[in-house]
Amino acid sequence: MCRLCRARGVGGPFALVENDPPSSSHVDDDAFVPCRVARSVLAEASPHHHRSHRRVDAPGSAARVARVVVGAGVAGACAAEELCRLAPDDDVVLVAATDAVKAVLDVERVTRRLSVVNVVERPIDSALAYENIRVARGVVTGMDPAARTLTLKLKRAPPTSGDERDARREGEGEGEGDEETTLRYDQLFVCVGAAPVVPEACRGDVAASVTRTVRDVEDVTGLCDALRRARRALLVGNGGIAMEIVGALCGGDGGGGGGGGDDDAPASDAPPPRELVWAHRHSTVGDSFFDRDAGAFLMGLLSRGGTRRDGRSRGGNAAEKTRKRRRRGKDDGDGEDEDAAGVVEGGTSTVGGGATGPSWVKTMTSALESGTREPFALRPRPDVELRAVEAAGDDDDDADGFAAVAVLSDGERVPVDLIIVAAGVDPAPRVAFLPRDVYARGDDGGVEVDACFRAKRAAAAGGGVDPRVFVAGDAACATDRTSDPSTRWHQTRLWSQARHAGTFAARVATDHADEDAFGFNYELFTHVTSFFGLKTILLGSYNAQTLEGEPEEDVVMYVRQTYDPAPCFIRVLLLRGRMMGAVLIGDTGGLEETFENLILDRIDLSRWGPALLDPEFDVEDFFD
Ligand SMILES: Cc1cc2nc3c(=O)[nH]c(=O)nc-3n(C[C@H](O)[C@H](O)[C@H](O)COP(=O)(O)OP(=O)(O)OC[C@H]3O[C@@H](n4cnc5c(N)ncnc54)[C@H](O)[C@@H]3O)c2cc1C
Repeated sequence: MCRLCRARGVGGPFALVENDPPSSSHVDDDAFVPCRVARSVLAEASPHHHRSHRRVDAPGSAARVARVVVGAGVAGACAAEELCRLAPDDDVVLVAATDAVKAVLDVERVTRRLSVVNVVERPIDSALAYENIRVARGVVTGMDPAARTLTLKLKRAPPTSGDERDARREGEGEGEGDEETTLRYDQLFVCVGAAPVVPEACRGDVAASVTRTVRDVEDVTGLCDALRRARRALLVGNGGIAMEIVGALCGGDGGGGGGGGDDDAPASDAPPPRELVWAHRHSTVGDSFFDRDAGAFLMGLLSRGGTRRDGRSRGGNAAEKTRKRRRRGKDDGDGEDEDAAGVVEGGTSTVGGGATGPSWVKTMTSALESGTREPFALRPRPDVELRAVEAAGDDDDDADGFAAVAVLSDGERVPVDLIIVAAGVDPAPRVAFLPRDVYARGDDGGVEVDACFRAKRAAAAGGGVDPRVFVAGDAACATDRTSDPSTRWHQTRLWSQARHAGTFAARVATDHADEDAFGFNYELFTHVTSFFGLKTILLGSYNAQTLEGEPEEDVVMYVRQTYDPAPCFIRVLLLRGRMMGAVLIGDTGGLEETFENLILDRIDLSRWGPALLDPEFDVEDFFD
């Protein structure tokens, strides 16, 4: 047994406890050679690993704080990096299930509180160049909060020779081995993300063979392969990811379909166009981001043929208009708005203009462009749910060669060879290793955290927080921060929030920050993204988040939208005259900075009313 493995039960940072009896492959010598088990656990991130390994047995090493970060996504990588930076004399173990770590490439500042976070994946061995970090490749499967230990199922180190690779292929497989070990922690950072939601209808054998979700790079690669072969795909979901998929698959000048005239008619011997059927249970698109105003605007854009490459609308000339609305809940109406002239809802649409999204969208778009297949024509199916997925039967028309038939709630049977599920994420399966009777869960399945992202204890465990356990990123349920009435911040599962939470938790853990969160933006929700080629900015309670208890008559929204010459949609939401949130889509003339300030300053804007959005009123200059 090597020196590392002999450290069983020692309070140092690398107290690895093997559950299996030591095998003869454990080697030790005076020059200290870590054994096979230790090597696979402690894949070195630093060129100084031998010196660092010796620390395990060094006198006084028990005084070093052992910090274990589980998960190498944005939150985990940011937490690990900040811990290394702020406490270089302590030890950090980053538990990584894959060989890649997410890294923030750069942050482009749009306003004081609004930034574009560009995220990349890097090989884990070179991404975090700190002396005090070690990477443990594996998956955490259990936790003993009383003993402060984690059970780690080891991922085997990559094979070092062709023979070893061949032997593994014939044997137990390439990835995880059966070996387990135990990791002790003084402080724990749970950054395990969330798993894609898979609807019940997609769980049978037939459905499983055609269903794909999108979460990581491998998912995107698998999806690209499936898309190259697919003749008809069903997209289930109506959030940001679903919209990005529509933009990527149906975008481009040759994309779209369904509304074409004679010029678009295929030659008689040409194969039928590929089709993307977009099924969602709402009457408008993008329900998890917008209410029906913004969704209807985007749907109107699709109906007009999308955007051109220069961001200008392809067709339509609806007059620019500003209108006032009382607040309504999501999808509370019948889709009709007496004031919504110029907005076209539903119907078969043509889409143009590729969305400039984050890197996964680019990967998907370029993978498809490099293939020989034509883009997909979009067929939106609002107001339906996927009920079942069945094998094609004799009665199914047009099902020849399709692997499955998707049954929609209105009875339509859609033969498909691919179902893409983009129906949100669920942290519950990822955080399952934290005992439920010890750590409280939020309504969304994440681990409840306080304002400092410390895990809350379950009532059965006495309540309060566990000061040693932090949960950051998608795995956390940050109700305390969301419900703070003095701010306009709310939790949404985004890179920017994962980055902030990981970094902030690390600072709290090392006594460099407290719940005031100085230097972090927990005052105002901000997000910038792109849908159907249009820049989209969301500020504060843009969709009346956290205003549920307010009287209807106190909440007013002003909307300005136009499709011509360039599509633009602006909506502001006021509570008793104070701006609470805003949605800005397209070229909105840089109003985001002004609106950000108006929300934070809480000025009573009642006397300006709809003039706030009047293009003739220079709101920026006035409130400067
Ligand atoms: C397709 C897609 C597109 C998106 N687009 C955007 C966007 O444009 N803008 C935006 O802001 N956000 C976007 N998001 C959301 C954003 O990606 C997430 O909010 C963010 O990545 C969350 O970071 P995280 O570190 O909490 O989780 P993750 O990035 O999911 O990382 C969690 C890590 O933990 C590991 N892990 C899980 N369980 C264990 C375990 N038991 N042991 C060890 N390791 C474990 C996983 O392997 C993973 O590496 C998108 C998400 C998806 C899926």
